[in-house]
Amino acid sequence: MTDAAHPLTLYNSLTRQAEPFQPVHPGEARVYTCGPTVYNYPHIGNMRAYVFADVLGRALSYKGYKLTHVINITDVGHLTDDADAGEDKMEKMARARAQSIWDVAEHYKQAYWADVQALNIRQPARWTVATDYVPQMIAFAQGIADKHCYELDSGLYFDVSTVADYGRLARARTEEGEGRIEAVEGKRNAADFAIWRKTPLGEKRQMEWDSPWGRGAPGWHLECSVMSGEVLGFPFDIHTGGIDHREIHHPNEIAQNQAHCCTNGLDQPANSGAKVWMHNNFLVERSGKMSKSSGEFLRLQLLIDKGYHPLAYRLMCLQAHYRSELEFSWEGLSAALTRLKRLVMATPPGTGEGGHPQAGGGAPANNPDGKFRPLLDRFDAALSDDLNTPVALTVLEETAALKKVDPADKRRVLAGMDAVLGLNLLNLTRADLRLRPRAAEITEAEIEETLAARKEARAAKDFARSDALRDELAARGVEVMDGDPLGWDWKLG
Ligand code: AMP
Ligand code: ZN
Repeated sequence: MTDAAHPLTLYNSLTRQAEPFQPVHPGEARVYTCGPTVYNYPHIGNMRAYVFADVLGRALSYKGYKLTHVINITDVGHLTDDADAGEDKMEKMARARAQSIWDVAEHYKQAYWADVQALNIRQPARWTVATDYVPQMIAFAQGIADKHCYELDSGLYFDVSTVADYGRLARARTEEGEGRIEAVEGKRNAADFAIWRKTPLGEKRQMEWDSPWGRGAPGWHLECSVMSGEVLGFPFDIHTGGIDHREIHHPNEIAQNQAHCCTNGLDQPANSGAKVWMHNNFLVERSGKMSKSSGEFLRLQLLIDKGYHPLAYRLMCLQAHYRSELEFSWEGLSAALTRLKRLVMATPPGTGEGGHPQAGGGAPANNPDGKFRPLLDRFDAALSDDLNTPVALTVLEETAALKKVDPADKRRVLAGMDAVLGLNLLNLTRADLRLRPRAAEITEAEIEETLAARKEARAAKDFARSDALRDELAARGVEVMDGDPLGWDWKLG
């Protein structure tokens, strides 16, 4: 877009303030997002974290930065407790499913990618898979071991007292928070964490590697330090994750990065790896269905099975600022679906061949100061204000509602805005957004056929037959919606 004139400000959890974005490498933006641990299906709360990271990446592209975005896939080393206690999540699930850990990782990686696609999350420049980087992890650990680590029977531990201002990112490092960190005999400080976990004598893990500290596996925190530094180079611009990571995972990454940068003479000891650390707030659900351990939990596929288009969930995420908690409800999702339908219907159709652009963006060339200008400016202002998507969405709607403008121009401006919000407005049709519960027994063809017969009956003034056909549909769960303001002729309930 050409109208990206407001300076981009982003809230940095590390400095606890909104700051103008100043890239490390002029014209570029390098972003690392903590990705999923592929031991189970992601729930829709997890997917909020990736929708947020996607909007950030799209906003940086829209602002003209050359974006390099990396998302990692954790397939080893994440314990059942972030605070470094419990079992390896992957090993535990592999046992429960009586499958190899590699098969488990593959299965859930594919499931995650399906959700990424369904939510129109752009492919990052690189997906890094933790098990591809084990030699680099060992080298990183070796580099900092002498000055910053000590060895116990269970592994190589990072001594958090060896770096300046450990934990400055965390908010909840209260007595209670510290208390959650399980005691390991011999640990020097409660917050010390394993960067290499040794396989206990006499045991064999499915995933283990030789290292200077014996056979074992890397710690989860080490993985992210290594993959982000390897691919993006320290310091890079932005590191993202959910707010839970602000408390343990990211402070531990920062401690390792400080140790690494200090040891390698890269920067002053305060170097945190990334300049800006950004965290999305949680999606909450009162009934507790979100928890992966509760047996049934809210997956994107559940929303799809109930008939909702997945982009209705994306729109629901955009309706809240990423730093606010968002409460999930089915009513809220229905409202988001209706909002999306209205937007799709207000988007002028493309004319295909013949010159009108299908996508792109910016103010129409032949109408630079037209009615679109103030809207484009407000859109940019909202986005530049720490990604204020709720406001950007209302500006998008106002643009869609503009009267007496050239439809091709309007389509092009909407396309430019949607390049950031990612609602796929140019390609979705009304029919795509129809509620379609998977449990429905009637096919769309049958519905359309019956409705056509009903139309004929009404044309012939045979109202008894018309009513009978309507009742027949109602008995099979189809509500006929004559005169619906959105132009829907039926819905499956
Ligand atoms: P995990 O696969 O558990 O490492 O989580 C993947 C991402 O989802 C991380 O960035 C988490 O911080 C984030 N996350 C976990 N639960 C939620 C939630 N309820 N709402 C938003 N983000 C979440
Ligand atoms: Zn991470």
